[in-house]
Amino acid sequence: MDHFLYRDGALYAEDVPVAEIAAAVGTPFYVYSTATLTRHFKLFQEALSGMDHVICYAMKAASNQAILKVMADLGAGMDVVSGGEYARAIAAGVPGEKIVFSGVGKTREEMRDALSGGVRQFNLESEPEMARLNDVALSMGLIAPVTVRVNPDVDAKTHAKIATGKSENKFGIPISRAREVYARIARMPGLKAVGIDVHIGSQLTDLEPYRLAFAKVGELVDTLRADGHEITRLDLGGGLGIPYARDNQAPPLPLEYGAVVQEVLGDKGCEIEIEPGRLIAGNAGLMVSEVVYLKQGEGRDFLILDAAMNDLVRPAMYEAWHDIVPVTEAAPGVEQSAYDIVGPVCESGDTFARQRMMPPLAEGDLVAFRSAGAYGAAMSSEYNTRPLIPEVLVNGDQFAVIRKRPSYEEIINRDTIPPWL
Ligand SMILES: *Cc1c(COP(=O)(O)O)cnc(C)c1O
Repeated sequence: MDHFLYRDGALYAEDVPVAEIAAAVGTPFYVYSTATLTRHFKLFQEALSGMDHVICYAMKAASNQAILKVMADLGAGMDVVSGGEYARAIAAGVPGEKIVFSGVGKTREEMRDALSGGVRQFNLESEPEMARLNDVALSMGLIAPVTVRVNPDVDAKTHAKIATGKSENKFGIPISRAREVYARIARMPGLKAVGIDVHIGSQLTDLEPYRLAFAKVGELVDTLRADGHEITRLDLGGGLGIPYARDNQAPPLPLEYGAVVQEVLGDKGCEIEIEPGRLIAGNAGLMVSEVVYLKQGEGRDFLILDAAMNDLVRPAMYEAWHDIVPVTEAAPGVEQSAYDIVGPVCESGDTFARQRMMPPLAEGDLVAFRSAGAYGAAMSSEYNTRPLIPEVLVNGDQFAVIRKRPSYEEIINRDTIPPWL
């Protein structure tokens, strides 16, 4: 459920008409609902309420400071994957002890910054990384709390580009090597193993891969404890999927996911950490765009929008489906026709949908891409020197621009001409 509904034929973001925001900020733009973000966070809290737990929002899904502030005020921790994300979490007021540092290529600088600013744990992804973090921590006279991200070799049954738990993926350490790796950590004075980490992929629509992965983690807890390691935390990653098309079967609910965690790992006496991103932000955001032209091609009609692949790359990158709806609701029973919905960027991949059935639309009409809150603005770029589009946050009947559209001048002035040119 989200808070983007029609009222008397007009699409609203909570209590604000989307067309009113468009008039105020221009198109295209992203708009997020505070109530939806809050609701999704609370669903995870409820789902894990029987267990000692921490919810670390995976901010790579949507990392605007205002969204992070909404999360931080709810008591969320953060999962970060770069020094930049770490700095964002700190700036949003998240205490270091609630920040989990993930990612396959942490640099010395990132390790140093997180160790001095405070960090809940580093999720380690390789043996060279263990050695480096040990060095960095010792050079600072500190002991770094760590987990090892194990790769359970489980098929997450999601898009290949966002599956991370198979042995051929770059992520984690093969679970078969875990005993050896934890023994090595125990000999490193700058590291202290506190738990185990696993994250098998994103947009999972089935709980079975979780069950399989969690069961392997549960076995590993027993094995490592028998080896004398103190395992007190289990970081189970994120990945729970969202419905992208309204008529598709809905993915499992956080409550059902929580029940699997409880059933498989509830008796281990561990604190549970989860890192949801997409489920929190995905259906909390729309991308709104204006129809620039209707173009008749040979055998197909194109709807050319002012938004493009640089603003929302998911269709080009993952063949992702987004429901695209008119901001002014079509009259019931009106005849629909098929359009290829495209942006103005000079690439054929700049196609949001092919042969999509849409109600009649004209130049200047507004359309909204649903489920665009996660991996939307966060993955956008200025390709074709198209300014990053504004982000807007709605709360009840108020809205605010939380990232403004840069001017051409601001974009140009970011570059520097060397004095010898
Ligand atoms: C991307 C990522 C997440 C969040 O995944 P979602 O599918 O957005 O929930 C969590 N943990 C790690 C380590 C990630 O890389």
